[in-house]
Amino acid sequence: MSKPMRMFNPEMETMPHEQMRALQLERLKRMVAYCYERVPMYRTRMDEMGVKPADIRTLSDVSLLPFTVKDDVRDNYPYGLLAVPMKEIVRLHASSGTTGKPITAGYTRNDLNNWAEMVARLCVAGGASDEDIAQISFGYGLFTGALGLHYGLEKLGATVVPVSSGNTERQIMLMRDFGVTVLIATPAYAMYMAETAERMGLIHELKLKYGILGAEGSTEEMRAELERRWGGITVTENYGLTEIMGPGVAGDCIYKDGMHINEDYFWCEVVDPDTGKTLPDGEYGELVITNLVKEGQPMLRYRTHDITRIIDAPCACGRTSRRIEKIRGRSDDMLIVRGVNLFPSQVETALLGVKGIGPHYEIVLTRKNYMDKVQVKVELLDGSLLESYGALEELRREIQANIRRICQLDMEITLVSPNTLKRFEGKARRVTDLRNQ
Ligand code: ADP
Ligand code: ZN
Repeated sequence: MSKPMRMFNPEMETMPHEQMRALQLERLKRMVAYCYERVPMYRTRMDEMGVKPADIRTLSDVSLLPFTVKDDVRDNYPYGLLAVPMKEIVRLHASSGTTGKPITAGYTRNDLNNWAEMVARLCVAGGASDEDIAQISFGYGLFTGALGLHYGLEKLGATVVPVSSGNTERQIMLMRDFGVTVLIATPAYAMYMAETAERMGLIHELKLKYGILGAEGSTEEMRAELERRWGGITVTENYGLTEIMGPGVAGDCIYKDGMHINEDYFWCEVVDPDTGKTLPDGEYGELVITNLVKEGQPMLRYRTHDITRIIDAPCACGRTSRRIEKIRGRSDDMLIVRGVNLFPSQVETALLGVKGIGPHYEIVLTRKNYMDKVQVKVELLDGSLLESYGALEELRREIQANIRRICQLDMEITLVSPNTLKRFEGKARRVTDLRNQ
């Protein structure tokens, strides 16, 4: 048998820091000049700020550049930020629109090749190789997830099964029949699929080894639960966004200690979301990404709204790249409840720390007499508990205490029958905020 792949591109993935910084600087300079020459919005902004491409002499000079925000992409819908003539664009994608009107991205042939390369790297980092059979259970279409993983996995030589999302029982049947070893899905859908496989009694007939999940966050607790439910697989996650490329910006290796950034393609900074000031590595803030190599629609200092921090410590896998920690949440997902900041992921952590309840939950916020109220609905694993008031109360109190400890808030807990809350085939939507209605 051939030796398993450890890295897809060892030269880039283990490049010494100094050499990588030199490469990044060279690419940054070229990219800033390219954007200035070809994209009117960048030229106007830089002129207004009195910055010229020649002012970029070090990587930290990136902070001289203007930020780009989601509204810039929307305002220039659909083609206003393209840096090449339409003839050179060979693919268009649009974001799934989790937070509003869709935004578009155009790719040249080189962009697509580079994209496949970065995705191939993170799939290998997550355990996949050319021996694997990978089922893509992301929805195919304008969403970048499915085609991004599709071409990355093909590039590395895995066998791709492009099922798309939905029709979950059929998905499980195909996994068994085709001997699928790698699952590509959102964490929420991967959980729903695991439940379905359990219910069909097929979970132990599957050959699944790796879940390479992404497009939304999940907590460590949810990852562990997924690994357990699927019978001891390794679950890694990866990160990306349409504006910048799609999946491929960063991905976990099997040590799961932060997502390795594809640093030869992206310059990542973390900034204070309020002041925009760049923060030192290790501090939490908003991730800001600059494309270092992209022809179609490159972004300079794109504000992702995703909250994380940069880890710059060696990793056991031998890759030298800086990593981003698990995303805590989008800054626009952060809820302020009675003056306390709350990320839905904190509720997830609190719930998954309690035995007897399932991994599905919903958060509903209401306001009465100027008082915010949070209701958390969560499923019982054993529905017969609903008959026993005492046991139910005890469980409710345990959940409440865990939530208070982790979120510093009191919430109302509603325990519901198994299999009654909504399941998701793509990104989960667990929060309903009715406070301003
Ligand atoms: P939309 O904004 O419509 O969801 P995208 O499909 O481009 O559009 O999604 C990109 C966003 O998805 C990221 O900005 C981030 O908020 C989220 N995301 C993607 N991967 C992850 C991940 N591994 N962890 C947390 N969030 C993620
Ligand atoms: Zn690693």
